[in-house]
Amino acid sequence: METKICTKCGEEKESSSFSKGKKQCKLCQKEYRANYYKLHKQEEKENRNKYYKIHPEKLKAVNKNNYEKNKEERREYAKKYYNINADTIKETRKKNTKITRKTKLNIQKNIEKNTHIK
Ligand SMILES: [Zn+2]
Repeated sequence: METKICTKCGEEKESSSFSKGKKQCKLCQKEYRANYYKLHKQEEKENRNKYYKIHPEKLKAVNKNNYEKNKEERREYAKKYYNINADTIKETRKKNTKITRKTKLNIQKNIEKNTHIK
């Protein structure tokens, strides 16, 4: 069985544990890639933060754009929602007015009753 020594972890492993032509074992390579990705990600984030620190107006513009976009979306959604439920909303409003009127009448009656007793 052919074996190779990994230049990273220094372990002797079967050549099947190595990618063709690589001096590091697959495990070390995987780790390296994961680390690289993490490092790269962090770096990217830092670069972005730095960039926005130097150009704060750019960040504001981005935020504003998002806000405007969201506003538009929210408005669209509200419009859609209202169109779909227009009848229900109108019905509910009508019912609510009826109830309020009735309640007001009851309150008035109660007041009259109370004043009468007195
Ligand atoms: Zn290794």
